[in-house]
Amino acid sequence: MREPGQIVASVLTELENAIKVGITTAMLDKIAEKEIRRHKAEPAFLGYHNFPASICTSVNDQVVHGIPGLRRLEEGDIISIDVGVCLRGYYSDAAATFPVGEIDQKARKLIDVTRTSLQKAIEAMHSGARLTDISHAVQAYVEKNSFAVVRNYVGHGIGQEMHEEPQVPNFGLPGRGPVLQPGIVLAIEPMVNFGTWEVRVLEDQWTVVTADGSLSAHFEHTVALGENGPEILTSSNLG
Ligand code: MG
Repeated sequence: MREPGQIVASVLTELENAIKVGITTAMLDKIAEKEIRRHKAEPAFLGYHNFPASICTSVNDQVVHGIPGLRRLEEGDIISIDVGVCLRGYYSDAAATFPVGEIDQKARKLIDVTRTSLQKAIEAMHSGARLTDISHAVQAYVEKNSFAVVRNYVGHGIGQEMHEEPQVPNFGLPGRGPVLQPGIVLAIEPMVNFGTWEVRVLEDQWTVVTADGSLSAHFEHTVALGENGPEILTSSNLG
């Protein structure tokens, strides 16, 4: 699973470099698909429940599952990109939120808090911990910073399927759920809203937006628990 993980990381790096004012989300999708196939891997999202693209692109108040299309990125936007890859039967999945040009301070803070909440979650993923210790770590950090955690969508186990048990909520009391043991691999993915936690789905049946129209950010890594602690499989080694 390290190999598809490294492909996911390289796609996200490529996309980060490609993001600029005026580029369409469909162009980003094309770049991603080309990069995935160059590595002889498959885009895991393409065709998944009939999803029509290789990546999800969610701009501003869009939380997750945005469909790439003709929307052009504008100065000050933020864009969350989710990438899933299958290589020889094994999956990896990661996401990140990027600024487009100069963004304002509140957008910057939302991105920073969401990224750090994922780090807190990964730190909570150690042998002997319980599953919801991860959930609680995200919620505690996000709410301390006065933002809200999305509740309708969760992280997940991952391996020979993209979505496996257990579900990994980003909120809840600690000390519940299975005891974490070496060998488990989880896609941990906090989705954080600037306003309230409520979301709704657009008429395209995919795009999730914040109910109050506020900004949303999303970070995700596929993380394996090894004998020596958590290992981020989708890290680009850039941190
Ligand atoms: Mg995921």
